[in-house]
Amino acid sequence: METLAINGGKPVRASLLPYGQQWVDEQDIQEVSAVLRSSFLTQGPKIEQFEEAVAKQAGATYAVAFCNGTAALHAACFAAGIKEGDEVITSPLTFVASSNCVLYEGGTPVFADVDPETYLLTVEQMKAKLTSRTKAIIPVDFSGQPVNMQAFQAFARENNLVMIQDAAHSFGASYDGQPVGSVADMTMLSFHPVKPVTTAEGGVIVTNNELYAKKLRLFRSHGITRDLQELEHESEGPWYYEMQELGYNYRMTDMQAALGLSQINRLDRFISFRNEIAAKYDAAFQVLEDKGWIRRPVVREQAHSGWHLYILQLKLEHLTVDRRQIFEALRAENIGVNVHYIPVYLNPYYAKLGYKQGLCPTAEQLYTSFITLPLFPKMDDRDVEDTIQAVNKVLEFYAKRS
Ligand SMILES: *Cc1c(COP(=O)(O)O)cnc(C)c1O
Repeated sequence: METLAINGGKPVRASLLPYGQQWVDEQDIQEVSAVLRSSFLTQGPKIEQFEEAVAKQAGATYAVAFCNGTAALHAACFAAGIKEGDEVITSPLTFVASSNCVLYEGGTPVFADVDPETYLLTVEQMKAKLTSRTKAIIPVDFSGQPVNMQAFQAFARENNLVMIQDAAHSFGASYDGQPVGSVADMTMLSFHPVKPVTTAEGGVIVTNNELYAKKLRLFRSHGITRDLQELEHESEGPWYYEMQELGYNYRMTDMQAALGLSQINRLDRFISFRNEIAAKYDAAFQVLEDKGWIRRPVVREQAHSGWHLYILQLKLEHLTVDRRQIFEALRAENIGVNVHYIPVYLNPYYAKLGYKQGLCPTAEQLYTSFITLPLFPKMDDRDVEDTIQAVNKVLEFYAKRS
């Protein structure tokens, strides 16, 4: 057996392969440069063009751009009317922003456990957490696979709840033929560099609801409006504006919007590349799954995944070491593995709020066995091969032989 790099052997590759990375091309750079030469760096024409392109791609009527996805989620909670005493059900297996946005507005996040097959929330698991105080739901398209959006939206309707879909991982994906962004009351897309397409930092809420769109725009810019139709007091002249809500400065710049506008042209291609790489991993890791050492990610038939993350579930009972050792061994081979995510409520801040270990046993158990492999559109065949080779090498070494 080959000596592992962690034990002094030669690493599979010479330099670290990251788990995710943007793909910015010359056209992107030219579009951003053009904004820098124009008269608007922010609040100019690129924002609206970007919003139109996002809405079209998502199959939604309105899109409102923000400085990042977290600000967009905050705005969605404001638009949904979340306030003190309101409960909002979400997943523990997500980035902290999915539930922090509820806290920002004074609401209470409620965590429903995930399905052990798909790692996603299901309507059944949410139903169990429903109370008379539930005001909204934030299902998360974990790893790029969309939740059953249609089922969640029907559940929200029946129970008079607002559905905010956290689609930070899944722009460009679809469920039952409907694009992510076209179904939920509001859908949040993130444009961070590791996400499907990037604006460096950026977020968008897409919606089909005009009232939500208005509230989102107000919230993005200090709660201030100049729209004559919307004024609460009488206009005092052409300079007149009024602040109607306590908003923030959550605006995106025109440089970011120009980058996003240029990137969106390649979204479908990026998603295809991600699907191709995931298919190569699936084929290569079949053997390891048959040996009982890992479980590969499962995509349901109705879902076209955005493949944001390719996560192996380690079958620790068949391995001689824990996830940490395998993580460090793969890092030593220069494969930039990662872990998504520490269940949100296990963070110290949530513990201080009173959330306890044991709340979502499936999510907690999955967390101890998850390892995220590199997956991004710019990876070449060599990068994919290196990752496969390193995973085989490390798991062969740590497998229990009985
Ligand atoms: C990235 C991410 C966010 C937040 O997006 P930012 O643009 O980084 O603020 C929210 N939820 C999930 C699941 C994410 O992965």
